[in-house]
Amino acid sequence: MLLSLIVPVYNEEKNLSLFFERSHKVLESLLIPFEIIFINDGSKDESLALIKSFSKNYDSIRFIDLSRNFGHQIAVSAGLDYAKGDIVCIIDADLQDPPELIRVMLDKLKKGYEVVYAKRKTRQGESVFKTWTAKMFYRILSRLTTIEIPLDSGDFRLFDKKVLDVIRQMPEKNKFLRGQIAWAGFEQTYVEYDRDARHAGETGYNFRKMLRLALDGITSFSNAPLKLVTYFGVIVSVFAFIATLFVLYSIYVIKSFVPGWGSLLISILFIGGVQMIAIGIIGEYLSRMNQNLLNRPLYVVREKN
Ligand code: UDP
Ligand code: MG
Repeated sequence: MLLSLIVPVYNEEKNLSLFFERSHKVLESLLIPFEIIFINDGSKDESLALIKSFSKNYDSIRFIDLSRNFGHQIAVSAGLDYAKGDIVCIIDADLQDPPELIRVMLDKLKKGYEVVYAKRKTRQGESVFKTWTAKMFYRILSRLTTIEIPLDSGDFRLFDKKVLDVIRQMPEKNKFLRGQIAWAGFEQTYVEYDRDARHAGETGYNFRKMLRLALDGITSFSNAPLKLVTYFGVIVSVFAFIATLFVLYSIYVIKSFVPGWGSLLISILFIGGVQMIAIGIIGEYLSRMNQNLLNRPLYVVREKN
């Protein structure tokens, strides 16, 4: 039974040594064969050199060096493609996900579960804005989708080869792994933990990347935004119909019609706004369909061992 630990790395030179020390110690204590796969996602610092030095000293350390920064979800996907394990664990390199929790997760898996995810009880060292938007996002997403995507959990999770095979077969380019794993089904459970602040360095998830992940999650697992457009359209049309009746009534019955440029302006702006939102939402889906049609490789590997 081989365990593969998947570690995406983007500018983590200050964390890698301690991460390696802690995770290696935990994995050795589990007394099962393991491999650690570091995916260097176009880091601009010394991360790659560090990873290479680990892999020189230990046979169990593998690395994949991507040709540029493809983003966290794609880096993890690359790791999943190359993992040989019967059990796979995805973990961050910044020590926000404590490697020591792997032991607890493995114990749960051995009880017959096929996916064990780690649920964040508290989050430390992250801005109020980030914690709040993340919290809102998970709640909105869960209302929009029919599949049950666990609340307040990232990609820190342990799962069985059966699940891995399903994920590998999923062809979408806009990866939202936590959703895909939920979609796959199987017996799932969780362990709770307090999420630490990152050990050192800065987050690689800027606002733009967070927004993209959120949109990928919503568009991959829900058509609700498209339906919303239709509802909006219906509501606006009903208003327009009532307004028309009112105008006719004022002109022909009470004959006190004051030409109102104000109401005209407002209604035009309102309809224009609704239409633009509608087109924008359709555009989000279209651009994702286009990316899938292009069928480009998800990532490019420069070097691996
Ligand atoms: N990461 C990555 N590519 C990116 C951004 C981040 O591989 O473009 C890695 C990063 O090195 C870390 C994990 O993904 O191991 C989580 O990223 P981060 O800690 O920056 O995100 P946060 O915890 O702030 O959401
Ligand atoms: Mg982090």
